[in-house]
Amino acid sequence: MHAIYVDESGTPEESGGTACFAVVGLSLPLSEWKTCDSQMRSVLKKHGMDGVELHSAWMARYYPEQERVSGFISATPSARREMVVEERKKDLAKASLAGTRSVKSLKKNYDKTSSYIHLTHSERLSALREVADTIGSWEFARLFGEARMKKLVGREQNARSREEALEQITTRFELYLSKVHGSSALGIMIHDQHQAASVRLTSLFRAWQENGTSYAGIPHIVETPLFVDSSLTTMVQAADLAAYATRRFFENAETDLFDRIYSRFDRNSTGKLVGLRHFTGKAPCTCRVCLDHRRSLSEAPGNY
Ligand SMILES: [Zn+2]
Repeated sequence: MHAIYVDESGTPEESGGTACFAVVGLSLPLSEWKTCDSQMRSVLKKHGMDGVELHSAWMARYYPEQERVSGFISATPSARREMVVEERKKDLAKASLAGTRSVKSLKKNYDKTSSYIHLTHSERLSALREVADTIGSWEFARLFGEARMKKLVGREQNARSREEALEQITTRFELYLSKVHGSSALGIMIHDQHQAASVRLTSLFRAWQENGTSYAGIPHIVETPLFVDSSLTTMVQAADLAAYATRRFFENAETDLFDRIYSRFDRNSTGKLVGLRHFTGKAPCTCRVCLDHRRSLSEAPGNY
């Protein structure tokens, strides 16, 4: 039995702040789950994040208020935390003079990052690198992803980004199960919870179970996606890191994290990359992923 853990990075909406919307699934045989979970937990523990949710995008940000604190680097983790909390209180007080909206966005930012303020920016990046290396070392695991460049995709397809990305990943996962693991292989999808989209994605998946995706039937995938709380599920957090690294590669040409996981994207028996699509609409692309994907030869995931 195989599970594929799926998470997104960036926003699918055209107006959102990211140029790319990435969805990535991390597939592993469940017989390896205990090892993977324990490795992830020990990396997090080593970096002072025992029991903390790994959220890559929030961790990778600069926290300017942290860098203003003098003596931060030499302080203990708990003192560091107190120093930043105090600095943030001052910032929130200042922001309240600028109006409610500014307080709200700052407060959100501080809430999302509160678990990481005892680590410097470079310590946070080290933790992310080590998680990426850990995923990269799992030879039994495969990544399946879709990275969509919003400006090139066009309005109509952007509106279906989440569905189309999930359809690509589901079809690729099905083909991997049947071609690599044989007719008795079974897989299940575990998705980061998504309040707004879970009902829609579940009914879409139900339709794929009955009639297949646009590309293939999915007889090896059971159930509709199970939506789980990522803060409790380390493998969804691993998928979050993979999605973040993928988005930042296409958006900013950042290779540090991406190169550590790239080898895990599925390839067929001839070595052709089949597990990651860089979707640029009708615009041609010769980035290394598109070259490895030999995009001009085949666009449809039905060709394995
Ligand atoms: Zn490309």
